[in-house]
Amino acid sequence: MTTHILTNLDDILTRLRQVYREIHQHPELSLEEHATAERIETELSRLDVEVQRIGGTGVVAVIRNGTGPTVLARADTDALPVAEQTGLEYSSQIDGAMHACGHDMHVATLLGAVEVLATNKDSWSGTYIGLFQPAEETAQGAQAMLDDGLVDKIPTPEVALSQHVMPTEAGTIGTSAGPILSAGDSLKIIVYGRGAHGSMPHNAVDPVVLASSIVMRLQTIVSRETKPGEFAVVTVGALNAGSKSNIIADRAELLLNLRTYDPELRQRIMAAIERIVRAECEASGSPQEPEFEYYDQFPLTHNDPTVNEKVTEAFTQFFGSEAVYETKPYTASEDFSRIPDAFDIPYAYWFIGSVAPEKYRRALEQGTLSEDIPANHSPFFAPEIDPTLEIGVQTQVVAALAYLAQD
Ligand code: ZN
Ligand code: ZN
Repeated sequence: MTTHILTNLDDILTRLRQVYREIHQHPELSLEEHATAERIETELSRLDVEVQRIGGTGVVAVIRNGTGPTVLARADTDALPVAEQTGLEYSSQIDGAMHACGHDMHVATLLGAVEVLATNKDSWSGTYIGLFQPAEETAQGAQAMLDDGLVDKIPTPEVALSQHVMPTEAGTIGTSAGPILSAGDSLKIIVYGRGAHGSMPHNAVDPVVLASSIVMRLQTIVSRETKPGEFAVVTVGALNAGSKSNIIADRAELLLNLRTYDPELRQRIMAAIERIVRAECEASGSPQEPEFEYYDQFPLTHNDPTVNEKVTEAFTQFFGSEAVYETKPYTASEDFSRIPDAFDIPYAYWFIGSVAPEKYRRALEQGTLSEDIPANHSPFFAPEIDPTLEIGVQTQVVAALAYLAQD
């Protein structure tokens, strides 16, 4: 494979370290990535690539380089409403916002991959699309780009690629065929009671008792209705009712979060939730039908086995077999798959490590990984710039070249 173009990245990395630090210092929340999008455009403007703004704060770079396949690589760009506590000298300068999921690293590594491919056009043939997607954290960004005509505005890819930094050992890459991230659904439920004075419960239908029964009964969906070994999570993340000790409220609100790998099981769980809620309302004599509102819905991320195998093989060849491992699926969720699904093309999504190897191994030996190594979304999450940045550029280019290299 044409991997010699990855052997001397020093100049590119010097620049990317600066880009990474600056984006890290200026995190922008979902759908507000204006300065980030401009920064990406500024970086791309130095290169011989076509640049388009799609979906508000989405940016797409296209490199047309003769005949051959079209490969799309995607990075997400948004930050989280988290107050950074890493103490790094390049910490967030924005109050209450932080790149706590590492999307700044995704931006920097994809910019690096675009630059490597744009400046080494004699080493490959085909079309490369670098797609910078906003608002992953709220599951709105991929859809915003699709709603703005992404499918008609860029060449049709035959494969899509994406990666995520993880709190695992830097230098390692985790791949897997099949489900790698769960489908995620949030659900707001309102159930109705009848309000009354706290001293006169006989005049009320108490929504606190009703909601409590619902919460307990929902626990049986996974424990009693789901086949042992099948993966599902049903979490009641919020339960709100009432305002005062001597008033019986007239409604309760529940916020649920669901995670699944199997679309059919996902439908069964949603049906079970609605069935249980309606039946408990009936049992309580609730005066009004319950309301269900689904939101923040993330699709399943399900790696195509053929693409995953091709990319994994390319990683193993380039990085060595000790660097590449088969990962278990994570229960987190992503909206990346909406893009390949809209083109009806296969995709692969993989994890890259970001923790200094000595630090990671020490925590692993001591059994203190969860205490000592801050994970994504933590105010302490801090990927090691080196070697994470270099490896993230290399993984993107190596995976793309598995399709685009001229042998
Ligand atoms: Zn995240
Ligand atoms: Zn993320």
